[in-house]
Amino acid sequence: MKTTIVSDNLIMLTRRNLVLPNAYLVREDDGFTLIDTTTRGAAAKLTDAASRAGAKIRRVALTHGHGDHVGSLDALKQRLGEDIEVLMPELDARIHAGEKVVEGKLAGSWPKVATRPDVALQDGDRVGSLEVIACPGHSPGHVAFLDTRDRSLIAGDVFTSIGSVQVTNHFYLRFPLAQMATWDKAKDLESAQALTRLTPTLLAVGHGPAVPHPVPAMEASLRSAVPVS
Ligand SMILES: [Zn+2]
Repeated sequence: MKTTIVSDNLIMLTRRNLVLPNAYLVREDDGFTLIDTTTRGAAAKLTDAASRAGAKIRRVALTHGHGDHVGSLDALKQRLGEDIEVLMPELDARIHAGEKVVEGKLAGSWPKVATRPDVALQDGDRVGSLEVIACPGHSPGHVAFLDTRDRSLIAGDVFTSIGSVQVTNHFYLRFPLAQMATWDKAKDLESAQALTRLTPTLLAVGHGPAVPHPVPAMEASLRSAVPVS
């Protein structure tokens, strides 16, 4: 697993296969918040990366419930036990609990996850230094995390940055999977607009590299996103 120091408080963890999503370590006074867990088989690599960066993982916060983001959650819970807190967006947690929370078909993969979150995240919640921003559309409960210290934004799968910044509501040749996994394309675009209005200083996404000073690229991505009626 490749470790990239993005800023003083943010470390990006990348799998060798670049189609697999990033995870992030956010530095807090008591250790790290891990954002997302990538696919299965990454638990040891994630805890090793945290040790190498000099602290323990204290909590695991998820941007959404898709399989490529929650894949190593159960294994991490097994390794770290009661020492970690697990936080998942409320609607996605209810989907994982077997509840039908939306009409129609869900997009993306929703594999069985045994771990029940300790906290169901809502818009406006705080996770250490991070503010939870509801941005539904890619999944029903999708959230982003805004670091209140420096306005870095961890935006999960609302945007991708493979090649260029793109909203996941429309087909993009470099990474078509993101659009295929998006549940409500109109809501996803609204969320992308709302996240752009936050004027983040850095954009960190599930798929693709971190983008410093991202607002012009985010605005361009809104213009090229296909409006959904
Ligand atoms: Zn996803």
